Amino acid sequence: MTTKIKFLGAAKTVTGSKHLLTHRGKSVLVDCGMFQGVKKWRLVNWEPFPVDLNTIEDIVITHAHIDHTGYLPRFYRYGFTGNIYSTPTTKDLSDIMLVDSAHIQEEDAKFANKKKFSKHTPALPLYTIDDALGVLEMFNTINYGEEKEINKNIKFKYFDAGHIIGSAFAKFELKRENGENIKILFSGDLGRYGEHILNDPEPGDGVDFLICESTYGNRLHTHEDVEPKMAKIINDTYKRGGRVIIPAFAVGRTQEILYHIGQLQKKNLIPLDMKIYMDSPLAIKATRISCDHKGNLNLEIIENSHGKCPIYCSNLHIASTVDESKAINKITEPIILISASGMCEAGRILHHLKLGLPKRANTILFVGYQANATRGRRILNGEKSIKIHGEHVPINAHIEEIDTFSAHADYNEILKWLKTFSKPPKMTFLVHGDPDAIDAMSQKIEEHLGWNTYIPEYEEEIVLDEFL
Ligand SMILES: [Zn+2]
Repeated sequence: MTTKIKFLGAAKTVTGSKHLLTHRGKSVLVDCGMFQGVKKWRLVNWEPFPVDLNTIEDIVITHAHIDHTGYLPRFYRYGFTGNIYSTPTTKDLSDIMLVDSAHIQEEDAKFANKKKFSKHTPALPLYTIDDALGVLEMFNTINYGEEKEINKNIKFKYFDAGHIIGSAFAKFELKRENGENIKILFSGDLGRYGEHILNDPEPGDGVDFLICESTYGNRLHTHEDVEPKMAKIINDTYKRGGRVIIPAFAVGRTQEILYHIGQLQKKNLIPLDMKIYMDSPLAIKATRISCDHKGNLNLEIIENSHGKCPIYCSNLHIASTVDESKAINKITEPIILISASGMCEAGRILHHLKLGLPKRANTILFVGYQANATRGRRILNGEKSIKIHGEHVPINAHIEEIDTFSAHADYNEILKWLKTFSKPPKMTFLVHGDPDAIDAMSQKIEEHLGWNTYIPEYEEEIVLDEFL
């Protein structure tokens, strides 16, 4: 009986993470992500799944990002009946994120039908909210460090990956016929060292095989303190009587921004009478979940927060309903406004930009990656006007960027983590990176550590016994 891994996503690309581990005739899927971004990969979401679902026993999820979970409702639609494992925080985040993803699928299909631009009539969603709700019923939660036996020959444990709250890397132990064990570690997405609200990634131990992400395999982050720049932007805008509008991803980035605003308030570095508005239903829920699971956050900041949730800053106002969101438009005093989507492609941020971009007193502050051709990228590139809801909106506001935020380890941080392994794996498979990044990561690992690396292709299957 062989042990194999089949790479069904995130192979030479950064989305669609799905790795099928087969041992002694039983298969476990690690992550079940949706392909996003590049059209060539997005179309794969619509192709028949290349493996018979009846042969997959269970699914182990590393974290709640859609490129690691977003295909689960499609599995439900196909009739998958196994168990799905995640940490408790990942389950709670998935409750909101999978339903949100399904909502987007439904809206996209509706829009395609209205505009009649789909080749299919009627255009159908990849999955529906009912599919998302159905698959969420199949989750089982496993805490960090708790051992879970999937069957008598396959067990695994989660360790904190420090990437987003609840994120994990998963270490499997497989029992062979000869009684020996094979250890395999799936990194999921790896976070950074010395982050404020998240823990450092836990050490990696010694394993026989490693499946490692390489998103930033060719890049280094700067480590400058974000707070002085943030304080200056906020103070300058306050003096002009304007508002600081921050487009931010609802899960992760919004909570980081709130934390830093709270720190600036504590140090008295920004005006304490300046109200902070959080206007994104998903961000509000994600912030609540992060606080419910604050035990997963960095212990030092928990202790310093004296029992309060360290994410919530002072003078924070929450706009849950559409009416509350609209009421923000009427405020005349300077405020800080955080809204989604992070790249200004959809959501309530569009209304705030429409109103805020023409005014010179305001600042639009970008705190996350802006992909090519998105509205966020175009505003950042200095375009003089932009179309929102069919209207041309002139851009007169100040445009600022803090580009030091990232949830992913850069290549030095990945190398730092790999140095915590007690022995070199027999093979390190590099996934979850664009081709340039993944090639660079492979070279770095071979150069600095002398480990063997391999870059799998989509749908490639590797028999691990050959390396033992
Ligand atoms: Zn991720």
